[in-house]
Amino acid sequence: MSIKDNLLRIQENIENALIKSGRKDDVNLIAVTKTVNVDTINDAISLGVNNIGENKVQEIQKKYDNIYDKVNWHMIGHLQSNKVKYIIDNVDLIHSLDRISLAKEINKRAKAKEKIKDVLIQVNISEEKSKFGLKKEEVLPFIERVLEMENINIKGLMTMAPYAEDPEKIRYVFRDLRNLGYKIEDRNYKNIEMKYFSMGMTNDYEIAIEEGANMIRVGTALFGKRTY
Ligand SMILES: *Cc1c(COP(=O)(O)O)cnc(C)c1O
Repeated sequence: MSIKDNLLRIQENIENALIKSGRKDDVNLIAVTKTVNVDTINDAISLGVNNIGENKVQEIQKKYDNIYDKVNWHMIGHLQSNKVKYIIDNVDLIHSLDRISLAKEINKRAKAKEKIKDVLIQVNISEEKSKFGLKKEEVLPFIERVLEMENINIKGLMTMAPYAEDPEKIRYVFRDLRNLGYKIEDRNYKNIEMKYFSMGMTNDYEIAIEEGANMIRVGTALFGKRTY
């Protein structure tokens, strides 16, 4: 299958999931380009991809200047505080804010550039040990601390579901994240918008969309199996 065919199929699946759930809004497809070379990424962009997601700072640095079109860059992986300075200018949305020390560093670096950085809070709904993210009950107190940081805008939530042969088994992960979003909206915090729910990957994006995902992060279904 070509990237073009893959992209068409994903777009069709997105449409069907939206129809199935009676939604009239849009889903942002983030093409996860980790391990994918720049020529292939540029091909995907020429086919209409305009959001790309990487999980390593080093890979963003390596690729950034070789992606010619204006696209939105998403940092979707675990972010070490000492590397924030390398991506603060390049990345449009950080999906993986999960601790105060990182928030402080992002705030500091954004402030130095006179920018306001958009972030999502990563939540570990399934509480898998191997995954990063705050526990559900930690999110509200966390937000109240980040609220004081003027150069950070919280734009929503992100989660990664465990791998499941049958993705129906992990539907609750997406539902819980969306419900947490409603709970945060109810607080009417200033400067906090529950605009994006970044959830769903190759194996489970349709179910995530049915549960309210409006950003899905898809790698394998678009580019094929990764070779590390
Ligand atoms: C790799 C990765 C994805 C994409 O995974 P696929 O199963 O290849 O679609 C999504 N989100 C994060 C955080 C990732 O690291």
